[in-house]
Amino acid sequence: MFDEDEQYPGGRHARQDPVGRRGLLKAALVVAAAVPGLAVLADHLLRRGHDVTAPQAAPAGRSPQSPPVNRPLVSRPTQVVLPLAGKVIVLDPGHNPNNIDHLAEIDRLINSGGFLKACNTVGAETDAGFPEWAFNLDVARRARVILRSQGAQVIMTQNGHTPYGPCNNRRAWISNHAHADATIAIHADGGPPEGYGFAALVPLLVISSISDNKAIIKPSGELGEATVRQFAQATGEPLSTYLGADGIQERNDLCGLNLSTVPKIFIECANMRNASDALKVTDPTWRDAAALGIANSIKAFVLR
Ligand SMILES: [Zn+2]
Repeated sequence: MFDEDEQYPGGRHARQDPVGRRGLLKAALVVAAAVPGLAVLADHLLRRGHDVTAPQAAPAGRSPQSPPVNRPLVSRPTQVVLPLAGKVIVLDPGHNPNNIDHLAEIDRLINSGGFLKACNTVGAETDAGFPEWAFNLDVARRARVILRSQGAQVIMTQNGHTPYGPCNNRRAWISNHAHADATIAIHADGGPPEGYGFAALVPLLVISSISDNKAIIKPSGELGEATVRQFAQATGEPLSTYLGADGIQERNDLCGLNLSTVPKIFIECANMRNASDALKVTDPTWRDAAALGIANSIKAFVLR
């Protein structure tokens, strides 16, 4: 963007080579001396220093006869509005690196929307022992960088620094309390070895004494559809061969979806028990692509 003052005709043009034009005007005075009126006009223009060769339109509110003003060229700060400015995104990396040392705490049963279920679990792992929590956390951190660069406020439910969990009801509370525009719980599955691919897990209606997720069913479904498109495009990962249909699985047994009051899905990015998918989840370059897919899914959803 340019500063409008740079375009002001009384500024730059009036400062360019006035001497040469004055010489021409003097010559015109001599030639036109015998013509009454013309000499007077030329003399008038010479005294005013006007540019008679390049008349310019006057800016609004300024008379064409106003003297030139040499304003200082002040550059105004350029305001860049990032696409996700003002949006609150919660990334919920499944499990926790320290869950394994706190089995008593994470096995504690909690009300998960009308039924009891463990507070949290240790998660899956590849046959070679690469843990799901490491995949989830790494992808979440990478996605956070992308989303923040686009202006979003990003909250993570855990960042590997807490002893365990948090419990799944606490994870839901974090998103609800933040009034998140979108939440994705990031996971990789421990499915049948022959199965592969990714899926978005979306909420079914669950109304209980502590929950009512009716308001989030439709937008969460839209977030799921956006994720099917964007994650496939960013990673090339096929749709799951064993979870749901067309990359979508509806669930009513996940505490994090049952207790949510803001649009939320889970993504199972790949099957850690499948040999081909295991190579992907252990590859940092693929995790970068997975993070981009998740960030693009959120962006597509909140800007829809
Ligand atoms: Zn998981």
